[in-house]
Amino acid sequence: MTETAPSAPDSLRLFFALWPDDATRDALYRTGTWLHQHWGGRLMRADTLHITLAFLGSTPADQMGTLVACADTVQTDAFDLILDQAGYWRHNRIGWFGASQTPPQHIDLVSALNAALQVAGFPVDARPHVPHVTLLRKSAGGEVPACERVNWPVNDFVLVASRTASDGARYEVLRRWPLG
Ligand code: ATP
Ligand code: MG
Repeated sequence: MTETAPSAPDSLRLFFALWPDDATRDALYRTGTWLHQHWGGRLMRADTLHITLAFLGSTPADQMGTLVACADTVQTDAFDLILDQAGYWRHNRIGWFGASQTPPQHIDLVSALNAALQVAGFPVDARPHVPHVTLLRKSAGGEVPACERVNWPVNDFVLVASRTASDGARYEVLRRWPLG
C-alpha cells in the first residue's frame, strides 16, 4: 500500500478583502451587537468581519501566482473609510454596515483589482460594488437604527481563503498588500 502524505488542497475558495485592524474590528462587532438587538438573526463572529473587494470562488491552487501578480499591479493610496450606514438586503436577509460616501481611493482599489483579474481571465462580479460589512445573517431587518460611525484606516488589502465549518465560514488571510 502506498502512503500519501498530507498535501495542500488543489483548489481553494478565495476572495480579496479589506481586513480590519483590532480597534476597527471591535467597533464593527459592537455595531453588529447593536444591530442584532434591533433586527435579530445570526450575529457574525468578530473574526469574520471584512469587506469583500473581489470574490473568486473555487480557484485552482496553481493559479495563485497569477492572482498575486494581479494584486501586485494595484497602486492605490491608503485612505480612511467612514462606515456610518446600516442596511438590509431582503433577498438574502443580510444586515450590513456601509458607507454613505465611498472614498475615491476605495473605488479605485476595487476597479483596479477587478480589471487586473478580468484581464487575467478570472471571473469578476458584473454587479456594481457596494462596500459593506456583513453583520447579520438570516435577519428580519426593520427600521434602520442610528449607528455610531466607525473610522476604518485602510492601509492594506488581503487575499483570503474561505472554508466551511459547522458554525459558519472560517477565513484565513493568506497574503497582504500594503497601500501607498
Ligand atoms: P457561507 O457562504 O459559508 O455562509 P460566507 O458567505 O461568509 O459564508 P463565502 O461564501 O466564502 O463565505 O464568501 C466570502 C465572501 O465573499 C463574503 O463576503 C461573501 O459575501 C462574498 N461572496 C460570496 N459569494 C459571492 C459572489 N458570488 N459574488 C460576490 N461576493 C460574494
Ligand atoms: Mg456565501
